[in-house]
Amino acid sequence: KQLGVSLVTCSKAYERLERKRLITRIHGKGCYVLVESTKKIEDNSDLNWQLTIVDYLPRAQMLKNFQAGFQEADSSIRFPFHVSAINEKLLPTYEIVREIKKTDQTALSKYSPFQGDMDLRSEFVNYFKREGMNVAVDQVLTVSGSQQGIDLVARTFIGAGDVVYVEAPTYAGAIDIFLSRGAKIITVPVNEEGLRLDLLTKLCDQHPPKLIYTVPTFQNPTGAVMSMPKRKHLLEIAEAYHTIILEDDTFSDMYFTEKPPKSIYSLDTAGHVIHSKTFSKVLAPSCRISALIAKGSFMNRLLAAKSITDLGSPLLTQRAVLPYLKSNRMEKQLEELRLNLKKRCELVQTMLEKYAPPNISWTHPSGGLNIWVTLPKWVDTDELLKLAVRKKLAFLPGSVSYAGEANYNELRICFAFLHDSLIEEGIMILCELISQYLES
Ligand code: PMP
Repeated sequence: KQLGVSLVTCSKAYERLERKRLITRIHGKGCYVLVESTKKIEDNSDLNWQLTIVDYLPRAQMLKNFQAGFQEADSSIRFPFHVSAINEKLLPTYEIVREIKKTDQTALSKYSPFQGDMDLRSEFVNYFKREGMNVAVDQVLTVSGSQQGIDLVARTFIGAGDVVYVEAPTYAGAIDIFLSRGAKIITVPVNEEGLRLDLLTKLCDQHPPKLIYTVPTFQNPTGAVMSMPKRKHLLEIAEAYHTIILEDDTFSDMYFTEKPPKSIYSLDTAGHVIHSKTFSKVLAPSCRISALIAKGSFMNRLLAAKSITDLGSPLLTQRAVLPYLKSNRMEKQLEELRLNLKKRCELVQTMLEKYAPPNISWTHPSGGLNIWVTLPKWVDTDELLKLAVRKKLAFLPGSVSYAGEANYNELRICFAFLHDSLIEEGIMILCELISQYLES
C-alpha cells in the first residue's frame, strides 16, 4: 500500500529536523544529515569540533530567518515583548543627546585611547566601588557593548575545540560568539537558583573547561539569581580547574526590592574572573557603552584584541554619558526605574494569572526585564511566534536560547520595552493566542 504524504508535511518535517540541528539545508544544494553523535560530548574525536563549526551554519541561518521575520514585521509590531530593553521614556536619552550637542567637536576628530577615555574609566571605577568591587582604572577596558566584550574574551582565550560551558538556556548572542570560535560548547541546566553546579562539577571532571560563561544575576532568559554560596562554589570550581569565569552582568542594577548578591568578581582573589558590565540597558543601547574588568595579563591580552578590532570605542558617546554617570542623577533614575519595572512585572503576573490557560507556568523574577514562560511539552513556540506576528505581537521563542538540544515549549516576555499602556492588551492577546493553539 502506498501512503500519501503531502509536500507541506514533508517540508515541515525538514524544518523541524533542521531546527533540532539534525540536518543542514543549504539553499540549492539539498539537505545534509549531521550524524546525531556530533551532539554527544562523549565522542572525543577530532571530528567533534569540526562538526561544531558546521553546526554554526543552521544556527546562523535560524537567527537570520528570525531577524528577517521581524524586520519585515517590525514596523507593524504593536506589542514588542521580544525586545529585551527598556522603554525610552525610562532612559536618560534627553540628557545624553544634550551632552552630545555640547560635546567639544574635537571628540569627533580624535580616536579614543584603545582602553577608553580615562575620565570615563575613572567613573566606572567609582561605580564598581559602590557595587563592592575593588577595581583599579587600568583593570577597566571600555568596549562597544558587552556583545563586543564577550567577543573579545572569546577571541582572546578560545580556540577551535576548546571547551566552553554555558547555561541552558542562556543569552543567545553569547552562544553565537562561542560557536563562531569553533568552541566545543557544553550546556548545563539552570534552575531557580541559577547554574546547576552539581552537574557542572561532574562534567568538568570529564571535560575540563577553558571558560565558563554565566549570567548570575537575573539570568537571561530565566531571571534566576545565583545565591552567594553558589557564587563562592563556582569560583572554587574555576580555581580547581584553572579556568576562566566570564561573568556577564547586564541586569544587577534592576532589582525590584532587594539588592542581589555581590558579583563573583568581587570574591575573586586569584584572577579567574573576567567581569562584563553593560550600561546599554540603563543608559541607552545605542551608545554602546560597556566595560570589561580583568586583572594583569588578561587585561593586556584583551586590550590587544580591542585595538585590533576597532582601535577603541567611539569617543563621542563615551564623553556624552560621562557627566550623567558622574552626577547623582543616575542613582535617582535607577531608583525610579526599579519601581517602574516592579510595577510592570507585577502587572504582567496579574494578567497571566487572570488570562493564561491552565498547564502553563511562568517565572516570578525579583529583578531584570524578563518573564520566562513554559508551555506544555508538545507546543512549538517558533510556530506560535508566526501566529503571534500576524496579531502584531512578538516574543522571544525559547529555542534560540539553547546551545544544545533545545526546548521548543518556552518563550520569553520582556515587560520593560513596550509602552506601559499596551501591556494589559498585549498579554490578553498572547493568552488568547496560546489558548487557541492549545485547543487546535
Ligand atoms: N549579555 C546579556 C545577558 C544581554 O541580555 C545582552 C543584551 N540583550 C548583552 C549581553 C549585550 O548587550 P550590549 O548591548 O551591551 O551589547
